[in-house]
Formats: sequence, structure tokens, C-alpha cells
Amino acid sequence: MKRIKDKIFGVIGLGRFGYHVAKTLAQGGAEVIACDSDEEKVRRIADLVSMAFVLDATDEKALKESGIANADTVIVSIGENIEASILIVVQLKELGVKEVIAKAANPMHGKILERLGVDRVIYPERDMAIRLAHSLLIGQFIEEIPIGDQFSVFEIRAFEALFGKTLRDLDLRKRFGVSVLAIKRQDSMLVNPSGEEKILEGDILVVLGTTEQLVKLTSQ
Ligand code: ATP
Repeated sequence: MKRIKDKIFGVIGLGRFGYHVAKTLAQGGAEVIACDSDEEKVRRIADLVSMAFVLDATDEKALKESGIANADTVIVSIGENIEASILIVVQLKELGVKEVIAKAANPMHGKILERLGVDRVIYPERDMAIRLAHSLLIGQFIEEIPIGDQFSVFEIRAFEALFGKTLRDLDLRKRFGVSVLAIKRQDSMLVNPSGEEKILEGDILVVLGTTEQLVKLTSQ
């Protein structure tokens, strides 16, 4: 695996999403080539990334000249102009970019991007909205990693009803259908905790389940 310093990222489209992706990657020590057709957007990012270009990324020649086609991973962050997003993805694939990640404005756009061989299609607004709603629904919510359509691995803060009880006493699998995969305690991580393990105040639980199961678990 390449070290992050040896990896080149391309970011096409510097709206709110693209801007923060490019900036964060650069701050993390990665080499970033960023571009947008809007001069002002390019000016805003220029000092933060390795290279920034004003170009129309649907133009194959301009794409090649910018060096973006040599990047290991290219993030296409164009939502509104679906036609441009599709054209750019096709060019990147033809130019042999190893990994293409693209933002989709809606499910149809996402489906087309998948058909075109995009390695990862992302729906930032939808995903943030779901995450926000989950954090409001599930008491003690810290973090969530979705697994498939229904299940997620949730990180939740242990709460009073659990304190001092063993996992066997709590019988969470039977009562709520959830599995405790790990317990984070201070600096340690108890993976696959046994039934004898007691939940303590301050613990963070790593739990596999559905949103509905977690809502029930945390509202007892
Ligand atoms: P945000 O991330 O702010 O939500 P958005 O999803 O609404 O943005 P757009 O407004 O469609 O995305 O475009 C994002 C950026 O992509 C804009 O800054 C726009 O100038 C740029 N862009 C659009 N088409 C092209 C193109 N053909 N080549 C390069 N940049 C483009």
C-alpha cells in the first residue's frame, strides 16, 4: 500500500463538498491536484493544495494536461451539472485512473455513475441527514458505520440502565436483537467481550444492530 505522502489525489469541482475534501486531504499530508471551471473557486483553494487549475474537466485534453489523470484517486464533486459529472467520469475511466469516487445528486445519477464503473458513489447530503436523524433518535449516539442497507455498527455511550450489569444479565441479543462487539474503556478496547464483562460508567459500547433496535435499547 502506498504511503499517503506518495499518493496523488485529484479533486474535480470545488463547491462546498469538493473544497473540504481537497483541503482536508492536503492538510493530512497528501498531494492534491484540484480544479474547477470557476476561477474564484480555484483561487480560494490555490494556497492550500499542491496544484490548482481553472479548467473545464469535460475537456479531455485539459484533463490530461492538468495531470489529474495521473492521480491515484480522483473525486468528482459535481452534483448539479449531472451531464458534466457523467462526461468527466467517462473520461477519467478511459484515461485509466485507478480509483474514481463521485458524488451523486440523486439515486438515478448514482445508478448511472455505478454503471459507468465508478468505484465509490457517495450521497453526502442524504448520508449526513440520516446520520443527524440517527444521532437525534438514538440516545448516547457517538458514531455509526452503515453495513448494508439495514444494519450499522454504532458507537454509543453506556447509560445508567446498563451500569454494573454483566452482558449475560443484560441479555441484549435476546431482548433487543443487538450484539455488543466491543467495549472501549479508557485507553483499552475489549473486543468480543465475554458474558461476565460488566458495563461501567464511562464505557463506550460498539454495537451491531438496526436503527430501530438501537432506539429501543437506548430508550429503556
Ligand atoms: P456543493 O458541493 O457546494 O453542494 P454542488 O453539488 O451543488 O456543490 P455544483 O454546484 O454542481 O455542485 O458544482 C460543484 C463545482 O463544480 C462548482 O464549483 C462548479 O463550478 C464546478 N464544475 C461544474 N462543471 C464543471 C466542469 N465541467 N469542469 C470543472 N468544474 C466544474
